[in-house]
Amino acid sequence: MKMKKRAPAMKAKRQKASKAGRKKVAKRKPVRMLATDPKRVAAILEKLEEAYPDAKCELRHENAFQLLVATILSAQCTDKRVNQVIQELFKKYPSPEAFAYANPSELENDIRPTGFFRNKTKSIIGASKGVVERFGGQVPRSMEEILTLPGVARKTGNVVLGTAYGISSGVVVDTHVQRLSNRLDLTHNEDPKKIEQDLMALLPQEKWILFSHQLIWHGRRVCAARKPNCAVCNLEPLCSSRDKTI
Ligand code: SF4
Repeated sequence: MKMKKRAPAMKAKRQKASKAGRKKVAKRKPVRMLATDPKRVAAILEKLEEAYPDAKCELRHENAFQLLVATILSAQCTDKRVNQVIQELFKKYPSPEAFAYANPSELENDIRPTGFFRNKTKSIIGASKGVVERFGGQVPRSMEEILTLPGVARKTGNVVLGTAYGISSGVVVDTHVQRLSNRLDLTHNEDPKKIEQDLMALLPQEKWILFSHQLIWHGRRVCAARKPNCAVCNLEPLCSSRDKTI
């Protein structure tokens, strides 16, 4: 008698478990493969070259030091806003010494429109002091040295070394490079350091500097975060992103 009572209960339990299992399987997203075939990577580079042969950094600067300051200011801010602010800023602070020994509250006020102005002031004064006191007034030319400046991480280091000095120290990974390299299946990482490692392994070193400028331009002009304009994108045949709008 006991067995007869238990059997339907066990059957129901098994059915419930198998339903839950099916639900789990149905919810699981299909695994996307990295598309790292060298021919495909070369085709992406070719398309970017076609679309943006003259891509370059859009932060206005006349030397490596000004680019360092502009890049620090560009965190969480548009290049357009930074370019407006630095127009007056570089007149008021014409040298690394002027920034290094600036009045912090005055500098905070001068850069306020770029946001996060307190932290940015600390970084600019700290980095400028480093340039003046440890590197003879010149922004250093190696990643190892540039990373010793306060407020300077790999992204800023890559921007300055690549754009101001033409040194291929790595790949700039900003929000556009992060999004687009994922959409193009060149990486499936979210952490900028890991993305940079993936891209450095995939791309020829002589393309590192231009590739990030081109991807940033493409992100700004065509492959926007919310509504990528896939209808006009020349990379469309090479892209299998879930975010595609066609
Ligand atoms: S096809 Fe669409 S999602 Fe893919 S890279 Fe082009 S704009 Fe971006």
